Amino acid sequence: MSEAPGPLGVLGGTFDPVHVGHLRLAEEAIDRLGLDRVRLIPAGQPPHRHPPRAAAPHRLEMVRLAVADNPRLDVDDAEVAAADAPSYTVVSLQRLRRTLGTTRPLVLLLGADAFLGLATWHRWRELFGLAHLAVATRPSHVLETAAMAAELAEEFSARVRRDARVLGEEPCGRIVPFGITALDVSATAVRAALMAGDSVRYLLPPAVLDYIARNHLYSPA
Ligand code: ATP
Repeated sequence: MSEAPGPLGVLGGTFDPVHVGHLRLAEEAIDRLGLDRVRLIPAGQPPHRHPPRAAAPHRLEMVRLAVADNPRLDVDDAEVAAADAPSYTVVSLQRLRRTLGTTRPLVLLLGADAFLGLATWHRWRELFGLAHLAVATRPSHVLETAAMAAELAEEFSARVRRDARVLGEEPCGRIVPFGITALDVSATAVRAALMAGDSVRYLLPPAVLDYIARNHLYSPA
């Protein structure tokens, strides 16, 4: 009999564009947290921020190119396909639960900056009934309850576990912080460099750089 599949990691984002910070987050999460694989879900219409600079199909294609040579990463196009609806993580996790069943562990990956804003997310408390949360910390992005909204600090204190093995033992409900290599790169800085006509080589996979050049995305103003 084959073994039950291990935890599935989920990484949502605007990916405008996808960069090495996102890819290392996914790659290191697999090793540190014992995940089977990570599914990247580009947002169609991110509800918490300015509209993305690149159209959703371009952002999706860049993520596809970025993960094409990595068998441990894959891409979910459902939020981009539902482009007229706001992209809510809770809705995507409910959809994954419908296809994967209730027992497989799901692990929502978040940078610490994203986690600190969690209490503003649509139906955020429901996330804990659908997935674990694994929060990537870096020296510049540590997790302290003092920096959290009171209701988030309360959930964090009740749910936090320091041993990642818990992620494989239950389907959802825990919060596990984990350290990753600090890569101080953001899509905002990448877009700014491209618009200024500066090089972003080595910050993005070469196939993504080519795609941006071919499609004249983020062109200098
Ligand atoms: P922007 O600068 O446009 O806000 P971003 O680079 O932060 O974008 P998002 O698509 O908003 O990228 O982020 C998706 C997820 O990746 C979030 O959970 C975020 O915390 C995480 N993330 C982004 N950049 C890094 C990085 N350099 N290292 C680790 N995690 C990151």
